[in-house]
Amino acid sequence: MEKTLIILKPSCVQRGLIGEVTSRFEKKGLRLAGMKMVQLDDAILNEHYSHLKNRPFFQNVKDSMLSCPVIVQCWEGKSASKVVRSLIGITNGRDAAAGTIRGDFAVSSQENIVHASDSSEAAVIELNRFFDDYEIFDYKLSTLTNLYSNDEI
Ligand code: ADP
Repeated sequence: MEKTLIILKPSCVQRGLIGEVTSRFEKKGLRLAGMKMVQLDDAILNEHYSHLKNRPFFQNVKDSMLSCPVIVQCWEGKSASKVVRSLIGITNGRDAAAGTIRGDFAVSSQENIVHASDSSEAAVIELNRFFDDYEIFDYKLSTLTNLYSNDEI
């Protein structure tokens, strides 16, 4: 099983969508392995968004992410990063497919509700960035045999 990182951004927190968005991941069949509210700071955002540092919107993105606390979550499942990315949709909410989280709840490139790790390799790095080991829980879902066939788990 793979673990991946989700951040419910200020656009999610302020618009009262924490439950709605969390419910999408739960209903898909992912296991919530960790969750906390955290006020991000400039240092962690410089690291997390280092791939955007030369983009004109970099400071705006950071200001938005600093504007209130966010919720960070660790979700687990088979191919969790791929599954979660398909649930959230593409970056610009105006272009994201209906039925995805961004497609249903966002009308912006920046204010797009949620961050998700874009690969299993990125997920390992990002979970380390936002969680300590003791904040990740390895309990077993009692519904596992209803979620996967025997040869999948
Ligand atoms: P994603 O979050 O879909 O993986 P990126 O890693 O490219 O996308 O960008 C990180 C975040 O930066 C986006 O989720 C969004 O909040 C913001 N962003 C990306 N592109 C733009 C843009 N053209 N204008 C404003 N903000 C943007």
